Amino acid sequence: MKVLLIGIQGAGKSTQGNFLSEKLNLPYLSTGHIFRELSKDKSVDGRFIKETINAGFLVPDELTIRVVNEYLQRPEYRNGYILDGFPRTIQQAKSFHEKLDKAFYLKVSDKEALWRLAGRDEYREDETLKAIKKRIDLFHEVTEPILDFYRQVGILVEVDGEKTISEVSENIYSHLN
Ligand code: AMP
Repeated sequence: MKVLLIGIQGAGKSTQGNFLSEKLNLPYLSTGHIFRELSKDKSVDGRFIKETINAGFLVPDELTIRVVNEYLQRPEYRNGYILDGFPRTIQQAKSFHEKLDKAFYLKVSDKEALWRLAGRDEYREDETLKAIKKRIDLFHEVTEPILDFYRQVGILVEVDGEKTISEVSENIYSHLN
C-alpha cells in the first residue's frame, strides 16, 4: 500500500504517519526529515538545503524528485510506504509515477496549526515563526492545487485534522480497507 499525507505544518502528519507506519508495517518517509539530515552536510548542497529549509522555502523540484526516487529504490520501500511532505507541488505530483492508493488531506486551519506549533517543546532551527508562516503561505499557494490533482485521480480523502488524534486515526483507518 502506498499512502500520502498532505497538510500544513502542525496538521499532525508525522503523528499520523508514524501510527500508520506501525499499524500497516510500512516505512514512513518524510522529505522534511530527509532534508534536515542532508542539511547537516558541510557540502555546497548541504549548505544550500540548510538555508532553504530554515527560510521556509521549498527545495527545488528537480533536487527533491531526485532525492525521493533514490530513497524509493531501496528494497525496504518495495512493498509500500507512508509519504509525508512529498509531492507538494504540481510539478512533483506530475513527475511522480508511483501509483498511490490514497492521499489523505489532514485539514486544520492556519490558526490551529500556529497554536499547536507554538506549544511544542522541542526547538528546531527551521521552526522560526517567519519560516512557519512562509511554509503555510506556500502550502496554500503551491501545495493546495495538488489536492484537486488527487481528487481527480479519485484517491483524495479529506480528514478533519482538528479532531482528537485517535479520531483522526480512526477516520484514516476506515478508508484503508
Ligand atoms: P516539512 O518537515 O515537511 O515541513 O519540511 C521541512 C522543509 O523541507 C520544507 O520547508 C522545505 O524546505 C523542505 N521540503 C520538504 N519536503 C519538500 C518537498 N516535497 N519539496 C520541496 N521542499 C521540501
